[in-house]
Amino acid sequence: MLCPGAESVEEGTKITIPYPCDFHHHFRQGPAISSTVPVASERFGTALAMPNTKPPITTVPLALKYHEELMAARGGGDMDIVNVLYLTDNTKVETVDEMAKHDFIVGFKYYPAGATTNSDAGVTDFRKCYDVFKRVEELGMVLCIHSEVSDADIDIFDREKVFIDRVIKVIVSDFPNLKIVMEHISTSFGVDFINSLPPTSRVVGSITPHHIMYNRNALLVGGVKPHFYCLPILKRESHRVSLLSAATSRSGRFIMGTDSAPHTVESKESACGCAGVFNGHCAVEMYVEAFEGAGRMDALEDFVEAGKKFYGIEDGGRKMELVKETWEVPGTMEFGENKVKPLRAGEKMLWKIVR
Ligand SMILES: [Zn+2]
Repeated sequence: MLCPGAESVEEGTKITIPYPCDFHHHFRQGPAISSTVPVASERFGTALAMPNTKPPITTVPLALKYHEELMAARGGGDMDIVNVLYLTDNTKVETVDEMAKHDFIVGFKYYPAGATTNSDAGVTDFRKCYDVFKRVEELGMVLCIHSEVSDADIDIFDREKVFIDRVIKVIVSDFPNLKIVMEHISTSFGVDFINSLPPTSRVVGSITPHHIMYNRNALLVGGVKPHFYCLPILKRESHRVSLLSAATSRSGRFIMGTDSAPHTVESKESACGCAGVFNGHCAVEMYVEAFEGAGRMDALEDFVEAGKKFYGIEDGGRKMELVKETWEVPGTMEFGENKVKPLRAGEKMLWKIVR
């Protein structure tokens, strides 16, 4: 790719990057997918669909049905979609064997019970899942982990750090060959933990565009901004800086995962607003902007490729071209029968996808 390597790239400059894949995407369900899937399909070669639907995708037949619905919603798009099953305390080892028969099912998503949107059926005690972890490890499948505790007595800003100490460290130690994604890491503790692991470790961290571009001031200064409310919650600036340096580190341990998570305008702008940021319409452009801002355009290719390598995605070297050219994000976008307020609504994006 072209490596301008400067803080600010000149207008009209074109770059070519490996075709991006998104390893963490909430497409939602029902009529909403006719909006979310085509938008993602304009940007990603493959997208990993999160399973926290209602009801959650806990079985292979449910995954087959959801996969078919999502693939059908692509319209003319050619994005491939892979799925994970929603892990519960009661998931059986036989389910893992059943999953392995289908190429599009790549592993499990582990939500601590109550940690985020539709996670009530999640795991209450990770030790109940040890037989499943063992089989997932043996089969080389992936365990995607929402890495936050949900205990009421733990401060919301500390939940990732406490999860690392109480849960991830134990799982990694007990299953050293298990392929794990610490999803949407949001703190320097997550970055430092992953970097502390030996080279043989199979643990990576996914990083969202909003966690490398914003800190908690975006959410809380000058009034509460519900469209910046997501889980893990945005943290202080030092954590954002740490995440950006991890994403641009070229270590292969940090991967693209947008956590695009739309909710209707009404459910965000509410006395008890839902957690989730919709970035599916501009995520690739945001990553490029963040890397440009860091003067690390040279690291984009490695960041894009790291996730594909981890998941074993082969795309024949497909490329995406972008141009440094501004465009304005609409104030609202279609979301099935409703509307969603997209991230950067009404603002200018600095990079545009050419093809
Ligand atoms: Zn998510």
